[in-house]
Amino acid sequence: MTKRLQPAGAEDRESVTGAGLCVRCAHLQVLRSKTSTFVRCALSDSNDEYARYPPLPVRSCPGFEEWG
Ligand code: SF4
Repeated sequence: MTKRLQPAGAEDRESVTGAGLCVRCAHLQVLRSKTSTFVRCALSDSNDEYARYPPLPVRSCPGFEEWG
């Protein structure tokens, strides 16, 4: 069974404060392993111009949409 990723919540966002613009973006997804936290861009699922795991910090992004 594949786990469906959800948009990041407030707690997730607090854990990736160094990610730049992604922290405030509606497309942010946060994945965690036992040792690492990954910033994933959900826009990459439908648009090849966006990296699944963007180089951080993101300072400028045309796909940015304010979260919340
Ligand atoms: S659209 Fe841009 S700012 Fe938003 S999560 Fe993706 S890379 Fe980050």
